[in-house]
Amino acid sequence: MIFYSTNSRDSELDIKEAVIKGLSSDKGLFMPETIPVLTQYFINNLSNLSLQEIAMEVLKPYFTPVLSDDKLKDIISEAFNFDIPLRGVNDNISVLELFHGPTSAFKDVGARFLARVLSTFVKDIEQDVYVLAATSGDTGGAVANGFINVPGIKVLILYPRGMVSDRQERQFTTLGRNITALEVDGNFDDCQRLVKSAFLDDELNKKRFLTSANSINIARLLPQVVYYFYAWAQIKDKSADILFSVPSGNFGNLTAGLISQKMGLPIKRFIAATNINDVVPEYLNSGEYNPKASVQTIANAMDVGEPSNFVRILDMFDKDIETIKESISGFVVDDDRIKKTIKEVYKQSGYILDPHGACGYTALKEIISESEQGLFLATAHPAKFPEVVEEQIEKEVLMPVAMEKFMTKSKIKIEIDSTFNEFKKMLLQM
Ligand SMILES: *Cc1c(COP(=O)(O)O)cnc(C)c1O
Repeated sequence: MIFYSTNSRDSELDIKEAVIKGLSSDKGLFMPETIPVLTQYFINNLSNLSLQEIAMEVLKPYFTPVLSDDKLKDIISEAFNFDIPLRGVNDNISVLELFHGPTSAFKDVGARFLARVLSTFVKDIEQDVYVLAATSGDTGGAVANGFINVPGIKVLILYPRGMVSDRQERQFTTLGRNITALEVDGNFDDCQRLVKSAFLDDELNKKRFLTSANSINIARLLPQVVYYFYAWAQIKDKSADILFSVPSGNFGNLTAGLISQKMGLPIKRFIAATNINDVVPEYLNSGEYNPKASVQTIANAMDVGEPSNFVRILDMFDKDIETIKESISGFVVDDDRIKKTIKEVYKQSGYILDPHGACGYTALKEIISESEQGLFLATAHPAKFPEVVEEQIEKEVLMPVAMEKFMTKSKIKIEIDSTFNEFKKMLLQM
């Protein structure tokens, strides 16, 4: 399989080159040249397959022959080693729980997979590989825990001061070893800009081997395609029209959903559920794409003003807004509405939502019609956001065991300002 950059169809890379580079030198994002359509037999038979078996079929076309089947199978069994259950919330709405991994957020799937793919691909490189990841909350923990102790790889996590919850921060500042946490005096977009600038700096790239672990990396994106298939496997009434509501920030998750649809899953349509960082819903409304500075919300892993995967979505639809609109509806949920939803859903069904899943649920509830079955993705465990959730449900949210183990260790971080020079100097000193 050949991968091209969204900025020029001419560049031809294989999966190994695309994964190691992360971002194309022309600043474009990598996309597979063709999206393979899986057989009808496979789709009809999904309910009889395990998560790992499904992952193998979905991912194989992208990684063969660069990874052998055996190697890919090993990586899948290590990366997809927790369940992703689908649960009913009410008559026509179910939730796909993506938060049963080590950092209790959906990013665990992509990060664990990428870490293992990358470490396989860089085995023959003599110098250390630096993985740079900007995080607005959940990426940091997932990436750090995905890469911990992977030989030859050093990870730098950049995060905005004061905008990440204590429990999120603990997941990447308490690990030590090959993981360094950088607290940036700025917002998430500043962190993302620092990472992007590093990749474009000639001097730095001569002296350091840099790569990314944000959702721009194709090996983080592709494993996310798997959970739409696995969700489908668990749907009881497959004859209904199926709608997926995706809480979105950088839009990697939604892009993965669109890829699963192109690969043959008969999903009727998608909802792009956002918090008040509404660039994409605005675009779907007006046809105008206006990136903005991000605004802080209680669904903070979605506080993104310039979603990096948006170019992939445009690319998949040849920039045709009318077809994009047929596949995706946008819906914006503000903080008050998020809180109200958490309270109401708990009262009605006993189900505890986190603020991100609550965006997905709210949007779905608004948009779904009677003839449809709706699924929304629960992207984080509610115990990651106790300040918000406990006030609404008026009781304590129990922490999953995986989360408890971060609570007793002390946080270690390096503070930097948001100028590229300071970041560059630090990288060169490491
Ligand atoms: C990252 C994240 C999102 C947004 O996912 P994208 O793929 O960036 O759109 C939503 N919810 C949570 C909890 C996240 O960590």
